[in-house]
Amino acid sequence: MRKNASLVLLFVFVVFAAAGCQRLSQRTAGRPYLADEEMVSIYYLAGKLGMTVSQETNKKIVLSNTINTVAIYPKLDQIYVNNDYLEPVGKIKKIDGLIHIRSSVEAEIQSKLIKPAVEKQVEAAPKSQLPGQSSWKSAGKTIVIDAGHGGKDPGAISTHGFYEKTVNLDVALQVTQILRDKGYKVIMTRDSDKFIELEERAAIANRSRADIFVSIHADSCATSSKNGFTLYVARNASWASKSLAGSIDKQMLQTGIKSRGTRKADFRVLKYTRCPAVLVELGYLSNYWEAKQLKNKDMQKRLANAIACGITDYFKNR
Ligand SMILES: [Zn+2]
Repeated sequence: MRKNASLVLLFVFVVFAAAGCQRLSQRTAGRPYLADEEMVSIYYLAGKLGMTVSQETNKKIVLSNTINTVAIYPKLDQIYVNNDYLEPVGKIKKIDGLIHIRSSVEAEIQSKLIKPAVEKQVEAAPKSQLPGQSSWKSAGKTIVIDAGHGGKDPGAISTHGFYEKTVNLDVALQVTQILRDKGYKVIMTRDSDKFIELEERAAIANRSRADIFVSIHADSCATSSKNGFTLYVARNASWASKSLAGSIDKQMLQTGIKSRGTRKADFRVLKYTRCPAVLVELGYLSNYWEAKQLKNKDMQKRLANAIACGITDYFKNR
């Protein structure tokens, strides 16, 4: 009898255990694994939309370019395109530390974006301002533009396989052209793919009695999600150096790339130049989408314009 009772107990236990297992497996199967696969990260989305992640907190993420702004609220599962509420977009969730959104939302955002018809006017503007601007302030000013790395030194290598030295030179050449058009005397430390020692770069600025020195680089780090542009001045930088960095920062914000602000570091090109000196890190080549943007000719033009405008603003405000 006792044996029978324990058999019954065992039977009951097995039935309950099986039921429990089933419940558990049902719950596991119910998790939206499939939905996860159809989700894309905000960086992927930004790249698809031709935008950059300009703000990223737990509560709010902003994707932007010069014309459009997409605000994402992960905790509310809401998205706004240029302050316009987007119809329910489903669950916004964190996967591997990055906010992900249903991939089909891209098309919904695209349909609400303002198309860049303004682009042509932006390009034309500097030329019409030319005669007035070249006559004052720019006269007699010497600017040294330093394209980082070169020759045997490629600098950082992007996730897409291109070199930092190439991006630096492409942007530096454009900055130089814009400033020369405005009437400034611009000396480049290199205007082709050649290697120049860091001390020599500073010496070029000192020998030419330059008014300012601007070095152009692109960043890289082990964390692939890190993005944004950064400005550097030397540790004991003058007020003028900081002011120049501030002017460039303000203009570069207009490109849509996130600002990481002005930081201090004794890079040799900053430490050994006697004039106000700033080093610009255009963005992160280790970030998939930012690297893609930095290779983009239109973005390079925007960055060059921003740096040139930052420089002219600096001279105007002195
Ligand atoms: Zn560099």
